[in-house]
Amino acid sequence: MGKVDALSRRVDYETGPVVKDVTLLKAHWFAASHTVDGADNLKDMCLKHVKLYDRSVVEKLGKDNDWELAEDGLIYRRGKMVIPNHPELRGRVIASHHDSIAAGHPGAAKTQDLIMRSYWWPTIRKDVIKYVTGCITCQCVKIDRQPRAAPLNPNPIPDQNWQFVTMDYMTGLPECNGHDAILVFVDMKSKDYIAIPCSKTLDSEGQARLFIKHVVVPHSLPKRIWSDRGPTLVSSFTKEVYRQMGIEGNPSTAYHPQTDGQTERMNQEIQTYLRIFINYKQDDWVEWLPLAEFAYRCRVHASTGMSPFFMTHGHEPNTGVETLKDGINESAK
Ligand SMILES: [Zn+2]
Repeated sequence: MGKVDALSRRVDYETGPVVKDVTLLKAHWFAASHTVDGADNLKDMCLKHVKLYDRSVVEKLGKDNDWELAEDGLIYRRGKMVIPNHPELRGRVIASHHDSIAAGHPGAAKTQDLIMRSYWWPTIRKDVIKYVTGCITCQCVKIDRQPRAAPLNPNPIPDQNWQFVTMDYMTGLPECNGHDAILVFVDMKSKDYIAIPCSKTLDSEGQARLFIKHVVVPHSLPKRIWSDRGPTLVSSFTKEVYRQMGIEGNPSTAYHPQTDGQTERMNQEIQTYLRIFINYKQDDWVEWLPLAEFAYRCRVHASTGMSPFFMTHGHEPNTGVETLKDGINESAK
């Protein structure tokens, strides 16, 4: 099945009017994730192939309340658009949830989960596994998805987001807008992360400034911070954070100069994820970093069974590839 390269078609895509006050991300980023199958386009394609609905699907109509032939002429199963048995069409739906910029090459289970928020067809599981195991990008990056042994002394479980945090550095990146490193903070509860482009020569004063701006201000001052950056560096980082925040006396935040198995695994996962994007967008990775973060945030994390976005906001985000059954976008044309 031929895969569609989202980026290769990005330039031709018409983005339409953009409401500047609302759109925080650049229009062409959205274009990249929509090009494979903007939901409107997908709907048209499904309408062309309604004759190809699986027999098992058509037979359910009128017999089972989960199944509905909607006014738009398409079949829905529990509100999810059923995709007709057309290999290219189904391939496009998988591609738009796996290798678009907004998807970020999740594994088969996560890809399937993303698709099933909006779409369904009888062989979805088999098709997704086949697609993901054949994905060249996934093979090249060799993501380690094997579960490892649990740590002997697991950390206490945080009861709030951004209470337990790891700090990590990614270096050796191609230079982009004066940046050649990323400072990464990972929240151990929601599994969310914050990636800040920086220089590998950033000192503890600069680190503390970024930490306060990107972690403390939007979330809170974490109670524990892990880092493999060495006890001296971590200690001067701590002091700087407290100095800049005007906190006197004994720090209430505990700093651990070494990550344990659990936090190390999380760091590796985020690093692998970010490297996919940086390999993909060598010379303007800084521009793409926020969208990579958003894409990651929308994916269900295996260890929590929820997306970091859901863990933070209590609902799933609109990522732009949901079905348009309710027609809210009709007026936007
Ligand atoms: Zn892939």
